[in-house]
Amino acid sequence: MYAAFTAASLELFFRVRRFAQYLILAGLVATACGQKSNAPSDFAAQRQLMVQQQLVVRGINNEGVLAAMGKVPREEFVPLELRTETYEDGPLPIGHGQTISQPYIVAFMTQQLQPKPSDRVLEIGTGSGYQAAILAELVKEIYSVEIVEPLAKSAEATLARLGYTNIHIKAGDGYKGWPEEAPFDAIIVTCAPDKVPQPLVDQLKDGGRMVIPVGERFAQELYLLEKKNGQLKESVTLPVRFVPMMRSGSEK
Ligand code: SAH
Repeated sequence: MYAAFTAASLELFFRVRRFAQYLILAGLVATACGQKSNAPSDFAAQRQLMVQQQLVVRGINNEGVLAAMGKVPREEFVPLELRTETYEDGPLPIGHGQTISQPYIVAFMTQQLQPKPSDRVLEIGTGSGYQAAILAELVKEIYSVEIVEPLAKSAEATLARLGYTNIHIKAGDGYKGWPEEAPFDAIIVTCAPDKVPQPLVDQLKDGGRMVIPVGERFAQELYLLEKKNGQLKESVTLPVRFVPMMRSGSEK
């Protein structure tokens, strides 16, 4: 009797154990198949994968640029409801009909600028503030102009929250640059005018570089302009698709 009872309870014990194993397995499968988590460690891992799979393989080799792209938390610049898509290989909407650029484009443009620690850089099109943060890791000061005031405000708040003190943001029409702070060692334009704005050329230091998409809606080329002895040397580097450069008020 005693032996029979033991056998039955052993049988029960194994059944319960098998059931528990199924439960654990089902939990693991559900986690793996479910949405990516928003945990900071998960974002950090996705960021390192992005650097390897989207940047290094496409020829980004500036160590400083790779380190900045591996450090800046892009998820902080993306709307809450899109955070799980932060490290996908494309642009994402940030509201007001604007976008945060694809990580590769941010890295490519930053590498083209050949940023140096002593540089003062002008950015036109602050957007989310992500490109400014990447540059802030590499140069001395960033001056960034954004025409959509609420975007300028929220980028300023994000960058302050993340502790950046070398980024200065102004709401206004970036076509005119930022004459009070000129000249600049480098200028990066992240919206597309149909031709290079003369005020930006004037505000670029001799020996300086400008990276700018130029062309019609949906068909632009990314230009690298280098100013030497007052002359501009230009090279076309990449076909791109940026939002158009808007003009303020009467200049539309
Ligand atoms: N660099 C941004 C992406 C910019 S998207 C980032 O890292 O998130 C392009 C931005 O240029 C938009 O926010 C748009 O509002 C802005 N823009 C368009 N025309 C402008 C102008 N004339 N002056 C300043 N900003 C402009």
